[in-house]
Amino acid sequence: MARIVMKFGGTSVADLDRIRNVAARVKREVAFGNQVAVVVSAMSGVTNQLVKYCTDLSPLHDAREYDAVVATGEQVTAGLTAIALQDIGVDARSWQGWQLPVRTDTAHGKARIQAIEGGELIRRMDAGQVAVVTGFQGVADDNRVTTLGRGGSDTSAVALAAALKADRCDIYTDVDGVYTTDPRIVPRARKLAKIAYEEMLELASVGAKVLQTRSVELAMNERVRVRVLSSFTEAAPDEETGTLVVDEDEIVEKQNVAGVAYSRDEAKITVRRVPDRPGIAATIFGGLATQNVNVDMIVQNISADGTTDMTFTVGKADLPRARTALGELKSQIGYAELLEDPDVAKISVVGTGMRSHAGVASTMFQALADKAINIQVISTSEIKVSVLIAAEYTELAVRALHTAYGLDA
Ligand code: ADP
Ligand code: ASP
Ligand code: MG
Repeated sequence: MARIVMKFGGTSVADLDRIRNVAARVKREVAFGNQVAVVVSAMSGVTNQLVKYCTDLSPLHDAREYDAVVATGEQVTAGLTAIALQDIGVDARSWQGWQLPVRTDTAHGKARIQAIEGGELIRRMDAGQVAVVTGFQGVADDNRVTTLGRGGSDTSAVALAAALKADRCDIYTDVDGVYTTDPRIVPRARKLAKIAYEEMLELASVGAKVLQTRSVELAMNERVRVRVLSSFTEAAPDEETGTLVVDEDEIVEKQNVAGVAYSRDEAKITVRRVPDRPGIAATIFGGLATQNVNVDMIVQNISADGTTDMTFTVGKADLPRARTALGELKSQIGYAELLEDPDVAKISVVGTGMRSHAGVASTMFQALADKAINIQVISTSEIKVSVLIAAEYTELAVRALHTAYGLDA
């Protein structure tokens, strides 16, 4: 007997038939003699709609009320999944974040889980009951509902698996594993049987939405065995199914580049003609940090006339707050103008092999040059190279890089 957490994403619970399909899969695991806790997302499209309600009503809405609104999607699917399970004879009960509770910090809209109280669930699992837990949400010290950031149900599932000391955390989604790049834009992408925690972490952080970044970080720290698999394939999963996220030394065939990812979620800001003197960057980025705006890539040009241009990227959703923050600091910074470009994409290549192999970045730049794609900003880490390009070339760039690194199937 094993204890497993099964997580189902939005497309896997998109309608009542799919919720019945989820229930049947859970029943199958129970029939194998396993203890099961289920984590569900909102039905696909629902969270987007809830977010839109908030932003349409007020672009700078209160984050606590945003959470009150967007957390509701998961409440519906948890209840429906419990009903579907009961309907096929499986003893089941739904749980919202505050009921367990799933304790988080107070960073509304992007809260981090601090602890999950698993005692009651373990007692009920021991008595043969399946727990269906709402993903994406928790409760903060102020007793208000929080949400974990988009894609956060993955993190709920991994955190629950750690709290319940589960043998495995199965992330059921609409693709049958982690691929060398998004299989929706590169049909020749290859499914990986295994991927290293570090590579998955880096890929997720640069845009591979198949797992939320924080979920991989948690899995790595808490030693949770995570498997990504499809909720749409008929056969019962076996050892070969899906992709396992594992330690680097479990991977036999190492590539320089394990995968390519893209993100269209960032916007580029250029602060034109800022005085080139100590303290300017501190003022700009300090002002953004005070507004809770995360900055990703940064470049500063050399100055010829005592002024310079500072270019950086922020999350698209943070653009209004970044604009406000920089507007308020205009006289203090003393810049000439603020330029915004939301039509950009960040393309990244990731692989632990980069640590020991030269030439990964130059292969990337050459492949983009061959397609006449202009690079606007570059950033690197030990196992990643990212470039910012015009959004219209996203798919072309991802395909070209996938081929250039020999990843095509
Ligand atoms: P869920 O709703 O189940 O959480 P998501 O949409 O969040 O599903 O994540 C699954 C999607 O991630 C896939 O449909 C795929 O388009 C995308 N994706 C991006 N990069 C990858 C990758 N490297 N491997 C697999 N899927 C990827
Ligand atoms: N429903 C939330 C979202 O769409 C959480 C998740 O699906 O993981 O972001
Ligand atoms: Mg997801």
